[in-house]
Amino acid sequence: MVFRVQAEDLLGRVGRLRTPSGWVETPAYLPVINPVSQEIPASWMRESLGAEIVITNAYIILRRLRDRALREGVHGVLGFDGAIMTDSGGYQVLEYGGVEASPSEVAVLEEEMGSDIAVPLDVPTGLLSRREALETVEQTLRNLEETMRVLEERGGRRALWAAPIQGGTHLDLIEMCVRREEEMGFDLYALGSPTPLMEGYRYDKLFAMLATARKAIGPGKPLHLFGAGHPSMFAFAVALGADLFDSAAYYLYAKDGRYMTSSGTLRIERMDYLPCECPICSKTDVRELREMPGDVRTRLIAMHNLYVCFREVREVRQAIRDGRLMELLEQRARSHPSLYQGFLEIMRNGELMELMERHVPLSSRRGVNLYDKVSLARPRVRRARRRLAQLFSMPPDEGRLVLIPATMKVSWSRLVEALGGGFEAALYGTPYGLVPLELRYTYPFSQTNHPKALIEENMEELVDLAVRQVEGRGYREAVVLESRTRVLRRFGERLAKELEARGLRVEVRRLG
Ligand SMILES: [Zn+2]
Repeated sequence: MVFRVQAEDLLGRVGRLRTPSGWVETPAYLPVINPVSQEIPASWMRESLGAEIVITNAYIILRRLRDRALREGVHGVLGFDGAIMTDSGGYQVLEYGGVEASPSEVAVLEEEMGSDIAVPLDVPTGLLSRREALETVEQTLRNLEETMRVLEERGGRRALWAAPIQGGTHLDLIEMCVRREEEMGFDLYALGSPTPLMEGYRYDKLFAMLATARKAIGPGKPLHLFGAGHPSMFAFAVALGADLFDSAAYYLYAKDGRYMTSSGTLRIERMDYLPCECPICSKTDVRELREMPGDVRTRLIAMHNLYVCFREVREVRQAIRDGRLMELLEQRARSHPSLYQGFLEIMRNGELMELMERHVPLSSRRGVNLYDKVSLARPRVRRARRRLAQLFSMPPDEGRLVLIPATMKVSWSRLVEALGGGFEAALYGTPYGLVPLELRYTYPFSQTNHPKALIEENMEELVDLAVRQVEGRGYREAVVLESRTRVLRRFGERLAKELEARGLRVEVRRLG
């Protein structure tokens, strides 16, 4: 077993990946390290950030450091004893239009220098037309066949091998690419994300690509995302199925004086304070930082950016274990309108929501916070509503239904005393629909917090949901207990009216 899943939420998982250099906890963020310049040393990342895995470029090593890498191994070159993933250099094709190496040359080097996760030389799609994109997929698949043949001839492999998924924004090509790679026996997959998408903030496109890749792969094997970018989108990458992702943004942003926070980016020249407690920010202030020589300043901002990225990964892991990854998405979606657009498109994708619903944990140590109409579309809410619909699909034991405002604290005995026996009871005015009184204290009903406005603003939908739960089940009579609060009193009145219109005898009354 190379990969073990320990907890899941939406399509995200906390897991452990076994590499030749040891276990790596996922989701994992892999800082990109330039093997020649090594601006921020990998050993610093190990000591200061607890980095278990980093990524570097096999093509640059082949061109510039080949002999040293064969002598000392890639771990020697980087001075890092954790796991090292090596990208093949396909990216250079995109940037400079061609690499001077063959797939077998790159593959042999990756094996011989001791890469833990190796990527065959691929041909990135970028933002090409469908016809040209198909060409890059076909060329990539030919490279993969050559790579696997070479590895076979060498008599087995030491590294975990990742199949690069190309196809760009053409979702059918992504599916086709995965289908063809399935038979080749790779250990994991790696989705090529076109850099122009990230630069143009086209998160909606990227999210659709990720969801497509994860669906095509199935839950079994780990998925890496190339070029994840800013920490505010890490939670999204994970929620859509990425177990690993790399980014060079920590350094590229720093060079440009851009200071990362988990919810956005600030420009160092326009800041008055450093809103962070990392060891860099707690030892300096923004004016000192601005006045430092360029390379020192870049290094310090890059280190701060790394702290932010690693902190965000821990936050995402905790959210998965607490079953509140969707809440984290709702928060992070606010960091940029494009991210919010991508988020809305996830929520509107019925097929994806259904898939996510299957992986929502049944219970959680933490409560559920709902905010607005978007919260009501969450997989957890859908799941709870589906469960209630099943309960309400059975014929009732009694012909009389007592409907109690959700905020009213009332016991069975008090109800029996006031109404006599012979009834079923349910709460109305919850975000989930009618909740049978006996389930009042079960998850997630009692652990849900929401503003009153949520019920008020979605009253029509929620009344309709309640009516559908009751309709056609054979109740003859409903007693709607009146609420003392304004919103629920209106809710009760509307519910009573709708039930009456469907032929039930309805009585609205106050309880003592
Ligand atoms: Zn900081």
